[in-house]
Amino acid sequence: MEHYDVIVLGGGIAGLAAAVKSARLGVKTALIEQYAFAGGMATAGMVSPFMKFEIAGDRLVKGIFLELEQRMTAIGGMVNNGFSGDAFRNVAWQLLTEAEVHPIFNAALISAEMRESHIQSVTFQKNGHSQSLSAKNFIDSSGDAQLLFLAGLPFQKGEKLQALTLFFRMGGLDLQTIVETVKREPQNFLPWVDSDFQEGRIYSVAGWLREIKAAQKAGKLHEALQYIFFTTLPGSGEASFNSSNICALDGSSSQDLTRAEWIGRQQVHQIVRLLQDEIPGFEKSYLIETAPQVGVRETRRALGDYIVTGKDIMQARKFPHAIARGCYGVDIHGQADESSVMDEIPENDFYEVPLEALLVKDAVNLMVAGRCVSATRKGHGALRIMPTSAAMGEAAGALSALAATQGKALRSVDYLSLKNEIKHNLKEEQ
Ligand SMILES: Cc1cc2nc3c(=O)[nH]c(=O)nc-3n(C[C@H](O)[C@H](O)[C@H](O)COP(=O)(O)OP(=O)(O)OC[C@H]3O[C@@H](n4cnc5c(N)ncnc54)[C@H](O)[C@@H]3O)c2cc1C
Repeated sequence: MEHYDVIVLGGGIAGLAAAVKSARLGVKTALIEQYAFAGGMATAGMVSPFMKFEIAGDRLVKGIFLELEQRMTAIGGMVNNGFSGDAFRNVAWQLLTEAEVHPIFNAALISAEMRESHIQSVTFQKNGHSQSLSAKNFIDSSGDAQLLFLAGLPFQKGEKLQALTLFFRMGGLDLQTIVETVKREPQNFLPWVDSDFQEGRIYSVAGWLREIKAAQKAGKLHEALQYIFFTTLPGSGEASFNSSNICALDGSSSQDLTRAEWIGRQQVHQIVRLLQDEIPGFEKSYLIETAPQVGVRETRRALGDYIVTGKDIMQARKFPHAIARGCYGVDIHGQADESSVMDEIPENDFYEVPLEALLVKDAVNLMVAGRCVSATRKGHGALRIMPTSAAMGEAAGALSALAATQGKALRSVDYLSLKNEIKHNLKEEQ
């Protein structure tokens, strides 16, 4: 069985950052990913843009996330905080290759062997064959806490999970006309929508509330849809739509996910038809593509040494063993029978993510990063965004590599040596 220092499961933004950081620290690192490319929600889910990670012009997340941004911008695949999935896929390949990560792609993890609180090995299936690998340390950045689940470790999963969304991309939008509509009828749009449109900058709109209600009344639109929301993409007249709303299904169940795909596709085609037929500015618009998979916001969350709460987020709590910072509030896309939440944290402040939220309870050599971080539903509603996921991944990669090099257990590595590796994502000492 081939042995690694660090094995990362899941090549989303968290796993990408984890694997690149680990390999850059000179240890033998593998990244197992079921798709043929990295990015997870950012590519397979076509999620864009990066949510808020700056306060008063100060970036809270730098490091590998900043490199990703700079490289996507350099190839014309990113403007402001909006990016194309294609740019992400390409830059991810560059970062992985240059760091000499061993990519084990098109490979789905199917089991994990656990002995005396240690993950011994993981087994994945590739081309109809199964293969096992062992490692000193493992990182679960699968979004769904798949490795924890397969190892039989405890996890959290609420009875209610956030709604799912199938992203899609349209071209041929007449943005000037759309902006004029927003100016004329602001009450038909969400309160944060403004008409400050500038050519060459990313612009977001959410609303058409009256048209949605009328279309639902006429039986032309799925009941769960609340508003139509798009953000423009690099390149003119193209936008990415975060509009479908798929309720009461669990993104970690293949049966539910299959059903969600079908509902999502029906909703997208209804929305496109409504836009093209009835909404000014969309007369010449066309559907370019739907995402390869439905976007999944929330499934299993790890049970860690610490569980980040909504209160920690809203009170902008700081921790002695901080590994990342964020300023995005609690954002929960509710089910049909619950209200959605978007609670902002105090202006110009930030919270920290403690290392203990990445260390998995009852496991000696396993960390989590990204969407499956140890948090309550509310805590998770803030931490799940892409910039914070990248910062968590980088920290998990750093600690796993340091532990492997120093021949220590994860929890025995000196925090200062970890901090030194990720200081760009932490508050500078005064
Ligand atoms: C609809 C929607 C809208 C969002 N909007 C925004 C937004 O505007 N801005 C923002 O910053 N964030 C947004 N988010 C949140 C953000 O996109 C995700 O939380 C974040 O990308 C999660 O990254 P991750 O690396 O933790 O997990 P993921 O991106 O989910 O990556 C997990 C990876 O693990 C792989 N994997 C899983 N199981 C296995 C297995 N058994 N074997 C092999 N591989 C496996 C998957 O294929 C995937 O590549 C949104 C999310 C959704 C769903």
